[in-house]
Amino acid sequence: MKNLPKSLKPENHRSTVALTRSSLFNFVALLIGVFLLASCMLLFLARDLDKTEEEESAFYTAKAVHASERGVASTLKDYAFWGDAYKHLHLQVDPEWAYVRQNIGATLYADFGFQGLFVIDESGRTVYAVVDGELKNISIEDWLGQPSGALVAQARKVASEETPVTSFMNVNGVPAIVAAAAITPGTDPTVEPDDRSASVLIFVDVLTDDKLAKLGRDYGVQDLRVAAPTERHQASYFALGDNGEGGALRWTPPTPGHRLLALGLPLTGFAALLVCLMAWVILRRTTAAASALDESYLSLQRSQAALATSEARFRDVVEASSDWVWEIDQDWCFTYLSERFEAVTAFSRQDWIGVSIDTLLNSQMGTVSQWLSIPNRKPDITISCRYIDTQGEERVTRLSARQLPEGGFRGTATDITEEVEARRRIEFLSQHDALTGLSNRVRLQEFLDGKFKALPTKEQPLVMLSLDLDRFKPVNDLLGHAAGDRVLNDISARLSECVRHGDLVARVGGDEFVLILTDAKDPEEVESLCRRLIESIEMPVVVDEQEVFVSASIGIAMAPTDAREAAELLRYADIALYEAKAGGRSTWRFYAGDMNARIIERRRLESDLRFAIKHGELRLHFQPRFRIADGKMVGAEALVRWQHPQRGLVSPEKFIPIAEETGLILPLGDWVMRTACNYAAQWPAHLFVSVNLSPAEFKRGNLIARVQQALDESRIAPSRVEFEITEGVMLEDAVGALEVMHKLKRLGVRIAMDDFGTGYSSLSYLRTFPFDGLKIDRSFLTRLGESEDDQTIVQAIVGLGKALSLTVTAEGIETAEHLALLKAVACEEGQGYFLSRPLEAEAFDVLLGETQSSEFNKKS
Ligand code: C2E
Ligand code: CA
Ligand code: CA
Repeated sequence: MKNLPKSLKPENHRSTVALTRSSLFNFVALLIGVFLLASCMLLFLARDLDKTEEEESAFYTAKAVHASERGVASTLKDYAFWGDAYKHLHLQVDPEWAYVRQNIGATLYADFGFQGLFVIDESGRTVYAVVDGELKNISIEDWLGQPSGALVAQARKVASEETPVTSFMNVNGVPAIVAAAAITPGTDPTVEPDDRSASVLIFVDVLTDDKLAKLGRDYGVQDLRVAAPTERHQASYFALGDNGEGGALRWTPPTPGHRLLALGLPLTGFAALLVCLMAWVILRRTTAAASALDESYLSLQRSQAALATSEARFRDVVEASSDWVWEIDQDWCFTYLSERFEAVTAFSRQDWIGVSIDTLLNSQMGTVSQWLSIPNRKPDITISCRYIDTQGEERVTRLSARQLPEGGFRGTATDITEEVEARRRIEFLSQHDALTGLSNRVRLQEFLDGKFKALPTKEQPLVMLSLDLDRFKPVNDLLGHAAGDRVLNDISARLSECVRHGDLVARVGGDEFVLILTDAKDPEEVESLCRRLIESIEMPVVVDEQEVFVSASIGIAMAPTDAREAAELLRYADIALYEAKAGGRSTWRFYAGDMNARIIERRRLESDLRFAIKHGELRLHFQPRFRIADGKMVGAEALVRWQHPQRGLVSPEKFIPIAEETGLILPLGDWVMRTACNYAAQWPAHLFVSVNLSPAEFKRGNLIARVQQALDESRIAPSRVEFEITEGVMLEDAVGALEVMHKLKRLGVRIAMDDFGTGYSSLSYLRTFPFDGLKIDRSFLTRLGESEDDQTIVQAIVGLGKALSLTVTAEGIETAEHLALLKAVACEEGQGYFLSRPLEAEAFDVLLGETQSSEFNKKS
């Protein structure tokens, strides 16, 4: 504001419109005054003009009248002072001479227009009268309508002077010049005057309109006429005679003043109007201009205010935002740095003014000055720059820059260190597993894509290990997820330790990992790594002072030998892993071409199995179970077989896993359940049937309803039906399994734990789940002869079963020694090839027909 001229300061500002208006109004008022004055002067001038004219015309009128008067008088003089007239009108009145001879007769009327010619004798009698050019016998008084004695007397009185007297008279309303003169002999010596009083000759010139008009014309008086009696005392009035006894004249004086006014006033008015109009137009224009000026003033004021505000705002923004503002000159040196610079960078502004921007900031795309020099650089494009702050930390700042018209640049610098860090973190998170910090599938995919782009060679192959933890699920189930997470974290760390820098370890599922080795020379090196990996994983993990043991299976595939693209490599590594698991776990397998063939084979089996279930290719064998103490058969285990048209009898070990994978286990299980129950329903009532249930059946489908249906159909007593389940059922979903088991128990059936001792935590399950029996896995019996330990274990299991009121069955009794040993430890029941192989239904019926006890006794 301080730069504003004083007049423009708001306190001094009166609206320019008002100012312009008032001055224009003053001007117009002045103009109007001038016009009024002019009009007045015009009026005055006109009046004066008219008055002058009036006076002039009055003067000329008077002159005309006097001239007429004199004219009459002089004509009369010629006639009255004449000897012949004395002879013929005084001495003796001779009308012959006067009228007939036209000495004083009609010619005077015709030539001079004298209407009346009279001769009055001594006694005052009218002795001669010519009226309107005709001789009349009329007295003058009669004709004039008034006495004429005074005039006659006057004429006689001045007879010696030979001067006629004149007078104005009103003759029948018309003014008339009456001139009288005594008739004298004049200079005529022949005339003998008598002693009588002189006769008087009177001429009367009646001022008719015609005469007056002519007279007026002669004297330049317009419209000279007889005034009406009412017109007395008006302007342009000329009274005839001393007291106006002769009437009066009027005329119309010229009125140049009026004409002047008639012309001048409208002109003045018009001029005034024009001026007013112009003033109005000017006013409008100037008002518009002025208001524009006002507007611009106001807007100037506003913009000044706005400028001040925006300046303040700018300062606030500059100092409030985390950005700092900079300016550099043509030499890239700082000329200005906002206060925030110090707050953000902890540098002193003083230290940097005059220093090149390149000294402070550098970017990955070259120096800042190079960036600024880019021709047609878009001003909204920013650049990320880095600098080392006073703490020695690298900070990232985003620079925006605009060229200054006077050269140099100005811009802002936004500190984006945190943002970059956060972005890096997000990027990391999106590519890494939150739990273990290992790469995730996304990162794996990117890594693989990158590696495949580099085209791996046989000499420098890309090796993929697909690693799956064995026995991890129970850790989660029994020790809780926190423990599971702990184990996964530990294992992840161990995996990372085993590989080299540049390799990748990714977690791709709950307990599935993928390792990419980029620097493995040959299969031996890979194998030794696998060995180290498994050894490392099998080291106990301590969770809450408890040692947890897990292991791993590894599948290996290599590029370019096995696969030439990422998805293929992943699939082959998975196949190899599958094979490794199938091969007994805790081991590794290289992918081999025939693995694929085996998979194809499995597919074919799958479709064949589907067909088999529908078309009755399944068979059910029964393996009897005996009470060890007395050798009596107590029941039989139903074992499914597949009579394949080409392959012959297929083992359940081969097709059950396929049925489980594909869901065919449900129709298969149904068939086994129903067939087993139906058969068993025909058996003696003390024999039970034992049916294997796969974990998949526990998860899927309504097992209870299916069991119920099988029971209902066969009408077998539920207590004669036993289901064998492995710990896999509990591993998958312990809570769900417990629920299903309780429901099964409510149906009245028995439940036994199969393959006890192979799994990880069968013992704990025994306590929590409603089992009726347990079957010791046949692997214990196989090793029974080898070590004392195993005997002790079997003994312990039997003891435990007893303690838990479970019927303990030993499987895989292949020899008499097995049987004897079991008898020694008082194992309740047993089954095995030594006692009986699984039998076809017919063979089993035959067996039933024999005396069961005797046969068993024979063998024992
Ligand atoms: P498992 O439940 O352990 O069944 C016992 C297996 O041991 C049977 O093999 C049987 O033939 C075999 N075995 C019996 N005594 C001896 C012996 O003294 N020595 C040896 N080495 N083996 C003996 P199988 O019939 O091949 O069945 C294998 C597995 O298939 C079964 O193991 C069972 O888990 C499963 N399985 C069989 N039938 C069914 C079924 O109907 N449903 C389901 N879900 N699984 C079944
Ligand atoms: Ca079984
Ligand atoms: Ca078994």
